[in-house]
Amino acid sequence: MIKSKQIQRPSLVLVIDDHEINRDALGIILEESYEVIYAENGLEGLEMMRKYADTLSIVLLDLIMPQMNGFEVMERMQKDDVLQHLPVIVLTAEKDAELQSLQMGAADFITKPFDMPEIILARVGRIIELSEGRNLISAAEHDRMTMLYTRNFFFEYANRLFKYHPEMHLDAVAINIEQFHSINDLNGRDFGDEVLRTLGRAIKDFLAEAEGIGGRFEADQFVIYCAGQPDYRVLLDSFQEKVDCISPNASIHLRMGVKPWREDVEPLLLFDRARAACNMVRGNYQNPLMIYDEEMRNSELRNQKLLNDLRAAVEEKQLTVYYQPKYDIQCSPPRLASAEALIRWKHPELGTISPGKFVPLFEGNGMIGVVDNYVWSEAARQISVWSKKYNFSLPVSVNLSRSDLFDPTLEDRLVKLVKDNGLDFNQIKLEITESAYTDNAQKVLDVIRRIRNLGFEIEMDDFGSGYSSLNMLSDMPVDVLKMDMAFIRNIEKSETDTRLVLLILDIARYLNVSVVAEGVETAGQYNILKDAGCNLVQGYYFSRPLSPEEFEKLIEKELLIEREKNNDAQRTL
Ligand code: C2E
Ligand code: MG
Ligand code: MG
Repeated sequence: MIKSKQIQRPSLVLVIDDHEINRDALGIILEESYEVIYAENGLEGLEMMRKYADTLSIVLLDLIMPQMNGFEVMERMQKDDVLQHLPVIVLTAEKDAELQSLQMGAADFITKPFDMPEIILARVGRIIELSEGRNLISAAEHDRMTMLYTRNFFFEYANRLFKYHPEMHLDAVAINIEQFHSINDLNGRDFGDEVLRTLGRAIKDFLAEAEGIGGRFEADQFVIYCAGQPDYRVLLDSFQEKVDCISPNASIHLRMGVKPWREDVEPLLLFDRARAACNMVRGNYQNPLMIYDEEMRNSELRNQKLLNDLRAAVEEKQLTVYYQPKYDIQCSPPRLASAEALIRWKHPELGTISPGKFVPLFEGNGMIGVVDNYVWSEAARQISVWSKKYNFSLPVSVNLSRSDLFDPTLEDRLVKLVKDNGLDFNQIKLEITESAYTDNAQKVLDVIRRIRNLGFEIEMDDFGSGYSSLNMLSDMPVDVLKMDMAFIRNIEKSETDTRLVLLILDIARYLNVSVVAEGVETAGQYNILKDAGCNLVQGYYFSRPLSPEEFEKLIEKELLIEREKNNDAQRTL
């Protein structure tokens, strides 16, 4: 069998010496084992280092030379990001220079005259080997984009600092870039890389002054383990300022979470909490800094409890569905037109928990599908019960979460829901929050279009709180705009808010869709909306969300009104 011989390119050695005789002598010794290039003085040497930076393994440097001496060469190398990693062996005849050379970063020295070739070869070989090994480690240690530590090395060093320097009291800081994937999508990867590099540089600059270490994990996850800062907002603002300089139009927003030092909390856990704090301020552009405190700890514990308890809640029927009516206010008296199904959790220990507390939590970990499935089947069953009991068809809207839209079984599940309960497609309406339309727009729009084509009516929930632009709206698959409560709250007092509501009604007319005003609480709000031509109203003014039993009273009242109307009509005939 022929063994293939591994061919290895010889290492490249640069000899810098002003005396030809020295260059020749070293050449004779080294050229057997290495590829050798030569420079006659310091300046020329630096030029060659830069030219061959990628392939050069070592520099043999004479100290006393015209133009630029060896010390100055080393000084310049130290200041150069690329050249500072290149190992240098100093060539010297004077013993005195040895210490100074070592202090300036020389890896070793060879004394003149060059009368011991084996020793010279051994020294050069050893330093090359050492430095190549070190470069390999350094490549794995550092993230290439930012030159900050990679995850494993970051925690390795953080653990050492924690263990051997307990007196340093280091805080954990987590930094993220809002919607980093959109920044990449909108401006291209190169731009995204530039943002990462800039933030990396800002962190390095900060660490040049402060004690600590920095790292970058995946994509835009930056971490700093540093001595406590008097005001983290100042630090965040300084990073933000540097990132803002890249492009004034790109609107890049940083957020930061901090978990302050605690004697008994190891780096891994400390950073988990810093990250949790950082996630708490996701999307909060006004206040993008969160310091982890006891309150957060308690809310984390409570969230964890809710996550653990969800399965039992479904099995033990702790989840119930409430219904809030929507009234058509353009007839007199207002007519019960439909309802919205809203989840309630009657927790055995924590009491009734509102969806605002647990829906976002379950959206975060994908378990919202379980909740939604439950609410949809309950609502569909209820529609069918009421339609049989009262011979009255009351359409009910259910809420969809963003993650439902990415579930490949969504269409089948919805169709099955309608079929199993003997309903028509127009008896279940689907509320989808505006912000779900705007991120990952194309995919989401395709899904919504498909379910709308099945015959479901689509209501855009919380309209006005997201960022739909007018030209996007005209292409969106929507039948109803549910105006966000924030618009209604102040219409009695604020002229501007009233004008905004009128504007939304105009937009809806232009798009040929109807409008539901949510959160209507007072007669004053109701009258303004009625006069402005708003079709449907939902809010405490008519009713809070009700249990099915309570809701039946509204149906019965409605039927009574209808009956009286019919009687009146017959009497006038
Ligand atoms: P939403 O879909 O915008 O629901 C309207 C919320 O406004 C409900 O809060 C309702 O109780 C409240 N509300 C109605 N009228 C008034 C009023 O006049 N004044 C005030 N201040 N509030 C009013 P709720 O039930 O706490 O639900 C909060 C959010 O949780 C919902 O907002 C919806 O986004 C989500 N949610 C509720 N049920 C479900 C569900 O089954 N699945 C999913 N994915 N999300 C749900
Ligand atoms: Mg809703
Ligand atoms: Mg809403």
